Amino acid sequence: MKNINKEPDFKHIGNKLLSWYEKNARDLPFRQTKDPYKIWICEIVFQQTRISQGLGHYNNFVARFPDVKTLAEAEEDEVILYWKGLGYYSRAINIHKAAQQIMTDYHGKFPHEYEEILKLKGVGKYTAAAVSSICFNGKMPAVDGNFYRVLSRVFADGFDISNSRAFNYFSELAHLILPDQVGDFNQAMMDLGSEICKPKNPLCRECPLNEDCLAFSMKKVSEFPVKAKKMKAKDLELKYYFVHRNGQFLIQQRKDDFIWKKLFEFPPEISDALVPFVVGVKTVSHKLTHKNLSIEIYNVEVLSEEVWNHFIAENSYLTTDVESSHEKSFPKPLETYIRNYEEAYRFL
Ligand code: SF4
Repeated sequence: MKNINKEPDFKHIGNKLLSWYEKNARDLPFRQTKDPYKIWICEIVFQQTRISQGLGHYNNFVARFPDVKTLAEAEEDEVILYWKGLGYYSRAINIHKAAQQIMTDYHGKFPHEYEEILKLKGVGKYTAAAVSSICFNGKMPAVDGNFYRVLSRVFADGFDISNSRAFNYFSELAHLILPDQVGDFNQAMMDLGSEICKPKNPLCRECPLNEDCLAFSMKKVSEFPVKAKKMKAKDLELKYYFVHRNGQFLIQQRKDDFIWKKLFEFPPEISDALVPFVVGVKTVSHKLTHKNLSIEIYNVEVLSEEVWNHFIAENSYLTTDVESSHEKSFPKPLETYIRNYEEAYRFL
């Protein structure tokens, strides 16, 4: 970090960014509001989902749960259902819990202060900074990957962005250029990072910061940001049994929280009595963050009513059919399997 201890004046960089933002801000629907509830939901939704992909889901979500109270009073399963298509279901569970927390700890009023917002379930420093700055004039930079990329390029700073201290490091760097209107600045950084200072092929000639950007002037833009270690995805094998009879099949809600917490799944094992009814197996691959899944799904068509009833009596699985399965949330590969079965079953 160059000269960081001498506190040089880099505020003009932040101000240039603000002037650019005034003319070039993207016209996003959630920018029309300062409602902290909606800003919070949208920050969570768009953390990992592209705006074009997530907008429809976001609109559906806030249409069904327009405020903290409605969300807090909803059933968890319904919240998860409305999160369908956005992945990362633990976020939906956390949002639901946080809404209840706001009702009990803050009398239903969204907290204003960064430190208080940070206490909400599932809310990290980035989201707390974004909500407090956009809605309540808070002064914390909402440091995310865009900040890492832009700041490391502007200052030609080789601090490893995969280092566990990167967040603190780049927050400190961000404070050097932070103007007074922090809410607009945070949104400007988001737009600059996604439209101009993109990870690949940044549009430096159009960039409002190009005169100040060290990486650009040294023709070393492609060398920043620096990322040292690469997390290797782990391989994971799963096995499921799609146990069905006359259009009905067996499911259970997951308790394991290492993936797919609270989603529904097929039985992961069957008894010996069901083995003769296995009519096929399908292997599907599915990628999650840091995990490559290989899932074997056995098709078990139970022709004997007695065996079916016995298996149900001996286990705690729920019985469902294709119609009512639409009201439950399944991991993507299982959802696809059910929809294929639904198609096939319709022609029987
Ligand atoms: S000049 Fe290029 S590298 Fe530097 S901030 Fe702008 S877009 Fe990013």
